[in-house]
Amino acid sequence: SQQWTLASRPQGAPTAENFKWVEAEVPPPGEGQVLARTLWMSLDPYMRGRMSEGASYAAPVAIGGVMEGETVGEVIESRDSRFKPGDIVAGRSGWQSHWVLPAAELRGLPKGPFPLSYHLGMLGMPGLTAYTGLMRIGQPKAGETVCVAAASGAVGSVVGQIAQRLGCRTVGIAGGKAKCDFVVNELGFDTCLDHHDANLGAALKEAAPKGIDIYFENVGGKVWETVLPRLNDFARVPVCGLIAGYNATSREELSGSFLMAELMRAVLVKRLHLEGFIVSDYWAETMPKFAADMTRWQGEKPFVYREDVTEGLENAPKAFIGLLEGKNFGKAVVKVAD
Ligand code: NDP
Repeated sequence: SQQWTLASRPQGAPTAENFKWVEAEVPPPGEGQVLARTLWMSLDPYMRGRMSEGASYAAPVAIGGVMEGETVGEVIESRDSRFKPGDIVAGRSGWQSHWVLPAAELRGLPKGPFPLSYHLGMLGMPGLTAYTGLMRIGQPKAGETVCVAAASGAVGSVVGQIAQRLGCRTVGIAGGKAKCDFVVNELGFDTCLDHHDANLGAALKEAAPKGIDIYFENVGGKVWETVLPRLNDFARVPVCGLIAGYNATSREELSGSFLMAELMRAVLVKRLHLEGFIVSDYWAETMPKFAADMTRWQGEKPFVYREDVTEGLENAPKAFIGLLEGKNFGKAVVKVAD
């Protein structure tokens, strides 16, 4: 198996030196296990967290360990009645070309009607993240204004399109004109603001004249600081991700102009509901409802879904480093094999 392992822990932004390419023997599958080859691999912001030591909701990857990640693969050999050679499965196999996992940890995937890679994005973990945060915590009602950070990305693009189907006004925030044009013209948001714009605060006031009822937080940092004053009383904030701070190495890099006391005052006075969530906590409970709703919505009006495809497992670190800098345009995936 060709593998990317963690060579060292990054200080700040990851570099190529933090990853090591290794060729390893794959053991034969044991009883209840499956041997498969990777076709598609997902690149996701959370992988940055796994590269660091320190308290989080999941353990870090060990030095020398295979980088974590979800893949779609084809079964080569199965020692479990649930799967046979040729079946397509999704699993947490990590950054490698061939692997053995227990059948119980794999999801069987249909061969159609969607491209297989969609199960790593719109129909998989990021899509479920969008749905869980928006529906459980956001609780959108028709006529409300929903603001979505990282709006062109894997999670944000689905949040906005679900919110539109529920009759909400949608305001996206994204990096650069090309992404903002895509968010409005292709994804159908009412408007989209560029977070590089020095006048983001004034632009947001204009874009959400009735204030913001739901802010889907993917970014943190400057974007969150700009949105906070525009939140309405009783606004809901699903706290999904804080990517602006994932590479930070000091408190100074993380802390902005708001004092903790000002934030808490806003929470109290505006009666805000901020709730952090991790999608894996809701997987079993929410996946069936998500799948049913997506199928229904897709039948009414297909979702627009854009992927940023990197060819070849060998190029995964470069693409991942770019993801943390906003270089991806759409859901980041790696095509590992045909
Ligand atoms: P995206 O496809 O949206 O890619 C990441 C995007 O983040 C970049 O393209 C960039 O978009 C934006 N970004 C990066 N740095 C900054 C910055 N400094 N300021 C503003 N924007 C920045 O990724 P996903 O949709 O996969 O993930 C979105 C968020 O959701 C992440 O924070 C991720 O950690 C989180 N997440 C949380 C989960 C959970 O269970 N809680 C599960 C899955 C994802 P742009 O160019 O527009 O700035």
